[in-house]
Amino acid sequence: MRTRRTLSSRAVGALRVGSLAATIALGAVAYHARPGQESWAEERARMVSDQIVSRGVRDTATLRAMRTVPRHEFVPRAYLDAAYDDRPLPIGFGQTISQPYIVAYMTELLRPKPGDRVLEVGTGSGYQAAVLAEIVADVYTIEIFDELAKTAAARLGRLGHRNVYVRHGDGYFGWPEKSPFDAVIVTAAAGHIPPPLLEQLKPGGRMAIPVGSVYGVQTLVLVEKDREGRLTTESLLPVRFVPLLRGPR
Ligand code: SAH
Repeated sequence: MRTRRTLSSRAVGALRVGSLAATIALGAVAYHARPGQESWAEERARMVSDQIVSRGVRDTATLRAMRTVPRHEFVPRAYLDAAYDDRPLPIGFGQTISQPYIVAYMTELLRPKPGDRVLEVGTGSGYQAAVLAEIVADVYTIEIFDELAKTAAARLGRLGHRNVYVRHGDGYFGWPEKSPFDAVIVTAAAGHIPPPLLEQLKPGGRMAIPVGSVYGVQTLVLVEKDREGRLTTESLLPVRFVPLLRGPR
């Protein structure tokens, strides 16, 4: 019989004796480090139905990716029990892994397709990049903190995401050598939409970016570039992201 380590703190107390030996044998550390386990699939399924489908996300590729990517692999050990909770979590350097719903909402917004090349600004834990990488051909992601970039690259490699390319740098300038992109996603709030990112968007492409002040109101904005290169923007949702930083870190 397959045993499963239960994730949530409320369930830990109810851990059945039968599964205890297996839990100890596997060990929390080894378990945390092992990709692709079927475990916690239930927690993910619940996360998707209770937090994401219930709020209106319908794109099947997005929902499938959210059910597949092991979010618990992307959070610090101290927050393991909260990995599938309905909130962002700290990942160090004052940064956060976004709330699952926001990750799903922004993924759907990009209308990602199998052949797409996507640029992400703000790698953080690498979770959003992994979700996109389940759907599209290639994900190029830039992180301003060297340490976070290194950790995310190692993690994504370990989890088998060969189609994610992580770079340390200031994402304001995008990744011109790899442009143009079918979609651009910015996961930190900017005071304005960086012009280099608009330039690197393909005609027909879509960009999702939180725009607004650091401590004030931010709005999730969808930018679309039509076939003739004309830009339109649409304000969609009040959000709260960490700020888009500038300069080397
Ligand atoms: N997408 C991330 C969430 C990241 S939070 C995830 O799935 O975990 C925003 C991230 O943007 C932080 O890691 C922060 O360090 C990074 N960041 C902030 N300013 C940046 C910039 N100018 N260029 C690249 N990354 C930036």
